[in-house]
Amino acid sequence: MSTIEVDTARLPLLLHELRMPAIARLWPEFSERADKEGWPAARFLAALTELEVAERGRRRIERHLQEAHLLPGKTLDNFDFSAVPMLSKARVMALAAGDGWLKKGSNLLCFGPPGTGKSHVGSAIGRALVENGYRVLCTSTTELVQTLQQARQALQLEAAIAKLDKYDLLIMDDFSYVHKDQAETSVLFELIGARYERRSVLITANQPFLHWDKVFPDQAMLIAAVDRLIHHSIIFELNVESYRRRGALARKHQASEAPQKKAKERAPSAALPHQA
Ligand code: ADP
Ligand code: MG
Repeated sequence: MSTIEVDTARLPLLLHELRMPAIARLWPEFSERADKEGWPAARFLAALTELEVAERGRRRIERHLQEAHLLPGKTLDNFDFSAVPMLSKARVMALAAGDGWLKKGSNLLCFGPPGTGKSHVGSAIGRALVENGYRVLCTSTTELVQTLQQARQALQLEAAIAKLDKYDLLIMDDFSYVHKDQAETSVLFELIGARYERRSVLITANQPFLHWDKVFPDQAMLIAAVDRLIHHSIIFELNVESYRRRGALARKHQASEAPQKKAKERAPSAALPHQA
């Protein structure tokens, strides 16, 4: 057995022990190349460790994308900004990069009628943030209230809220669908209070603050919650026609125009005198 074989025999095991799968996979190829091209030992080591760190970063982002429960297929690339002229693409892109607002625990509040792209843009911002190294959780507000309520019943509310602290951004979709009659919504108030000025939330809601009296048990709690949410906040108001409805109307319009268009296209040729 050569010295090299003796030296490397335990390498797979050692690298496995050290949890370095990229190096474990790549070292034979790299060491062959390093020998052939006469790389200094430091260069060989640096190249392998850089690759391990890069792969680790990629795996971390994959894990964070899975845990985020973002809406599948909704990205900023496939968001049509021309449909919402009041929304600055540059502003959205800056928010999607993190750009300080998460560090300050600022909130993003997204209002507008159903179908105007609130969930799409919210989830897409969340996705971009995860890709930029932040941690995000996207959930329907109703589901979140249920989870927190169960935690309260088990006397674990504080722990459940603290567990959400690991997320730089908590996306609470369809905030105004939560109804105080169906749930003990004061848990939401406690969550908002706990995250205030520390950890960001992104809220989407069909109803503006005015109508949130259905969400919270009493006026004082509503005022205090809204106060905390808006203190450091960015507000998007997507007051446009529903994107789905607009698409359906455009298709209907096209369909009703199509036969006329065809008729028009045919008309001139039909009017042409037959060539002899
Ligand atoms: P909301 O949350 O405001 O009710 P959604 O985000 O669920 O609306 O949007 C409804 C549907 O329309 C989704 O399939 C979404 O991807 C699509 N949509 C809405 N606005 C846009 C947009 N500006 N560009 C591309 N798709 C959009
Ligand atoms: Mg929605």
